[in-house]
Amino acid sequence: MANLDKYEAVIGLEIHAQLATQSKLFCGDATSFGAAPNTHVSPITLGHPGTLPKTNATAVAYAIKMGLACNCAIEKNNYFARKNYFYPDLPKGYQISQHTTPICVGGKVPIQLNGKEIEVILNRIHLEEDAGKSIHDLSPTDTFIDLNRAGTPLIEIVTEPCIHSAEEAFLYVSEVRKIVRWLDICDGNMEEGSLRCDANISVRLKGATQLGTRVEVKNLNSIRNIKKAIEYEIERLIDMVENGETIIQQTRSFNADNDTTFSIRDKEDANDYRYFPDPDLAPFHLTDDYINEIKASLPLLPNALKIEWKSKYGLSDYDVDQMGENKQEADFYTLWTTQTTHYKAAINWILGPIREYLNESNSSYAQLIPLLPHLTSLLDLVETNQLSFSVASSKVLKGIIANPQNPLEFATTNNLLQSNSAEEITNWVDQVLIANPEKVAEYKKGKKGLIGLFVGEVKKLSKGQADPKITTQLLEQKLSQ
Ligand code: ADP
Ligand code: MG
Repeated sequence: MANLDKYEAVIGLEIHAQLATQSKLFCGDATSFGAAPNTHVSPITLGHPGTLPKTNATAVAYAIKMGLACNCAIEKNNYFARKNYFYPDLPKGYQISQHTTPICVGGKVPIQLNGKEIEVILNRIHLEEDAGKSIHDLSPTDTFIDLNRAGTPLIEIVTEPCIHSAEEAFLYVSEVRKIVRWLDICDGNMEEGSLRCDANISVRLKGATQLGTRVEVKNLNSIRNIKKAIEYEIERLIDMVENGETIIQQTRSFNADNDTTFSIRDKEDANDYRYFPDPDLAPFHLTDDYINEIKASLPLLPNALKIEWKSKYGLSDYDVDQMGENKQEADFYTLWTTQTTHYKAAINWILGPIREYLNESNSSYAQLIPLLPHLTSLLDLVETNQLSFSVASSKVLKGIIANPQNPLEFATTNNLLQSNSAEEITNWVDQVLIANPEKVAEYKKGKKGLIGLFVGEVKKLSKGQADPKITTQLLEQKLSQ
């Protein structure tokens, strides 16, 4: 076990997020995932001589959105540079990237670590194009190349070396994924490679101010793997230092089969890439008006929304923390609050039966919006004790979705309304007590916990129609006689 009292881990993360534009960063080829290999490959993607790239304005707008959401400064004067290297899956022989003028500068992403807010400080967010894919596992002897992804727009979100544990890294990447999804600029699917992370890791003695030599673990494709790779590297690096070994700057890869990393190459330096401004692409200038327009279009981010919900609807931290992962869900709730004042009950409905229904039926919140008035009536029926929550959620909800109608009508037709009538409930209570003489005797001897069993039996017998409060009162009365 590495000595974490003596050493401090220092981590900087680079996250590549594939922007959800229709077309590539510098040409009209589609970006959609899963197409037959090498079908989205115009002469521009293939790097044919004489072709000219043209910048995708939507990609630029998405990068600005992310920058504004992360409190970055937006660079108004931008250009693209060529980063020259040979890669079989990038036919031009260079990658077009922003070199010294990232479109977003600085910034921060707050995360909650053990109930305390800390800020992950960003260095920059820049735009660049993705490479294609080399596929090594289809043949034992050959490598296949799919260039569909070549030229897809990416933003690279780079932190300062300010993260100090695998747990912090895990929370940060989760938060970034949440934000890009919330802004609808990237689908955040790590399995499909839409979000990939490189982790830079070094260690130093606690209290030291200079950074140690770092290693970089490339292309981590799940949040779990990011955490595992960092945990492994911290241990490995501390052990090396303890054993008096010298750490060399290396690029490494993660092996998910045994949660270890291995070296792929010693690190190259930036000047090996011979950066120069791409002469085929005009520099682009952003106006204040344009940036402000994008700012005005940004949705409230999850953290801000939670604060608003708490003050406006009197919700607890617990309630709001359950929400805010999914923008469609949050929008649905916000819309619902314009129709009902049972704010807390509406959240319970969303977190319970509504999510369950959407999962089971593979449908979306958009499909439920037209039903909101009926859902509001349903919620009212439960809140006024005309319908039990269990009957409402297990039977009426599905009924009114399958065949949109007023829930009161549905419940009446199907004989599901809850009974508040003491007479009717007494009848059920009596039946239950007669059917369970031994339990009644045990209760009378002091086993008061059995009340729950009796209430449950009455619920069953009445098919959920007996109001549980009245049932309990009547049972207690009868059993104390
Ligand atoms: P490059 O572009 O060569 O990968 P950068 O200087 O842009 O290098 O840094 C990449 C990432 O590595 C950043 O997130 C940065 O915070 C992090 N980083 C740099 N030096 C260290 C270090 N000594 N320890 C941990 N992380 C580091
Ligand atoms: Mg790097």
